[in-house]
Amino acid sequence: MKIKKNDTILVITGKDRGRKAKVSEVFPKQGKITVEGVNVIKKHRRPKREGEKGQVVEIPKPIDVSNVKLVCPKCKQAGRIGYKLIEGNKYRMCRKCGQEI
Ligand SMILES: [Zn+2]
Repeated sequence: MKIKKNDTILVITGKDRGRKAKVSEVFPKQGKITVEGVNVIKKHRRPKREGEKGQVVEIPKPIDVSNVKLVCPKCKQAGRIGYKLIEGNKYRMCRKCGQEI
């Protein structure tokens, strides 16, 4: 999977389209990721003890990686990613500016 944890991505479909945010979790087997503040559901948590207030917890639901584009930290553009090999190691490369990501 091309997207990694802590990457900045741009959402390209859905109700959060156009939003740039950080990847908080990746699920390579499902091809899904969770992104901070994107596709969030609000859960009301009941107070555990008497006198305590209930809380609203925001939980991001996973979205498909095909719904996002990686934002290059170097040129700040969202685009396609390529790979290059340097001494046997695979690096991600921005196709816009040619820099390693
Ligand atoms: Zn770039």
